[in-house]
Amino acid sequence: MRKLITITLIFYLFLAGCDWKLTVPEYVYKDHRHEVLANRNPQTKEQRPFNNKKLRGTIFSTPVTYQSTTVSISVGNLKSTVTKINYHIWRTADDSKTMKIFPAVNPADHFTILLDTRDFASKRGEYQIEAYSVDNSGKETLLSKSVVIFPQRVPILMYHAVDEYRGQGWKLLFVSPANFERQMQYLKDNGYTLLTFERFSDINKVNKPIFVTFDDGMKNNMNALKILKKLEDHKFKPAATEFVIAGRIDSGSYSLSSTDIKEMVNSGIFSIQSHTMSHSDLRSVTDYVQELKLSKEKIEQVTGKPVIALAYPMGYFNDKVVEETEKYYKFAVTTKYGLFVERGLSNELFLLHRIPIHSTTTIPEFATMIR
Ligand SMILES: [Zn+2]
Repeated sequence: MRKLITITLIFYLFLAGCDWKLTVPEYVYKDHRHEVLANRNPQTKEQRPFNNKKLRGTIFSTPVTYQSTTVSISVGNLKSTVTKINYHIWRTADDSKTMKIFPAVNPADHFTILLDTRDFASKRGEYQIEAYSVDNSGKETLLSKSVVIFPQRVPILMYHAVDEYRGQGWKLLFVSPANFERQMQYLKDNGYTLLTFERFSDINKVNKPIFVTFDDGMKNNMNALKILKKLEDHKFKPAATEFVIAGRIDSGSYSLSSTDIKEMVNSGIFSIQSHTMSHSDLRSVTDYVQELKLSKEKIEQVTGKPVIALAYPMGYFNDKVVEETEKYYKFAVTTKYGLFVERGLSNELFLLHRIPIHSTTTIPEFATMIR
């Protein structure tokens, strides 16, 4: 990809030496550049900040993949003669005071510049681009605005029990309250932004996005709520997702009751999502309506909020399971190991990988896994 960009740039530089208008047919220009807005995440499209029809030019960029660290930016469709353009660029997640100016003076190459993430400490995510024409007196006039997204890597943590192990259940899945607090304190101290699935479209607009998820709706997850509440302050806003087994709500002392669930929701910290009705292997069930649709509706009745995400029980899924899940949900998490990065693959939001946190996970391991 980088090679292609380099070849394309050399090609443009060569053309810049010739007379662009005479040597470059319009289709070459269109073929090599894509309008920046066309590259945007579909979930953020409606937030298009500016009406481009009123503008005096269009910002173009080369395509960006999850591996790209640079992008070539230019301006076309200019409505008047322009001799110099200043690009104002900053990351959406950072203050616009971090804005840097990149001047371009060559109309023959459509004022092309190379935006390199290394100019912004190699940070990824959404970048704001503004193009201004500059007149002889140095006065800037806005031509166009746009965004470019370098997809960020997003860890989705997977917890089960937050409690001391007392001989019941699988020991590895018990993270002690003290360890859980240390891990959340680490996220707080290191500038992570905790998200729930309702804010999935913000993953490239915030610094260090991360999801904290819990499977199985265990009563001891109230310990997690207590700890997250304790860490909350004006800067750090905790957020977490509880995947409850709908059929086990109010079923006994090991499961969250509907009162517990309401307390979690009212805290503003927890989003309650579905882990099916009965926690069965979805590859072998026949009643998908019961497991997927009715579980969702039952949880929604308790919380009064939409259920949009599913955790596959034991992480089991196949093509049929994904197809059925897509009928009722927007996201689904697996137990496959890894961080999420948007690649534009079909079904990628229904095959989300996670990072399991165990009783034995140390802080250095925790820090390495989410990096
Ligand atoms: Zn489970």
